[in-house]
Amino acid sequence: MTYDHSNIFARILRKEIPSRTVYEDDYALAFHDIAPQAPIHVLVIPKGPYVSIADFSATASADEITGFWRAVAKVAEDEGLTKEGFRLISNSGPNSGQEVPHFHVHLFGGTSLGPLLS
Ligand code: 5GP
Repeated sequence: MTYDHSNIFARILRKEIPSRTVYEDDYALAFHDIAPQAPIHVLVIPKGPYVSIADFSATASADEITGFWRAVAKVAEDEGLTKEGFRLISNSGPNSGQEVPHFHVHLFGGTSLGPLLS
């Protein structure tokens, strides 16, 4: 799938539209979801133009992949979620309901999340 540079997360990365940023480094940007599904609902995205986790895993550099996942873990720690626990979800493709075609991980926490797919 070709990357669409006009997608909403690409525009957030370019600072064309605002977001409530919680963390940023050379590899990742993390910001609050505009429609939170849990008390803490943060989106973590790589800075490069990747549509999905398959695209990211196949084409990003080892530094980008390492940097991205370290950022995810750091955000969970910074949000105070490491002890009580949290959930990561990444939607990919039509069956998942992926809305934004820029690879992202949802980080949910701040409450007992219940069973998956409930
Ligand atoms: P997906 O369904 O693609 O996995 O999730 C996309 C997420 O992006 C949704 O949870 C949605 O609420 C969030 N979202 C969509 N547009 C914006 C926006 O402009 N700003 C922020 N912060 N989140 C957004």
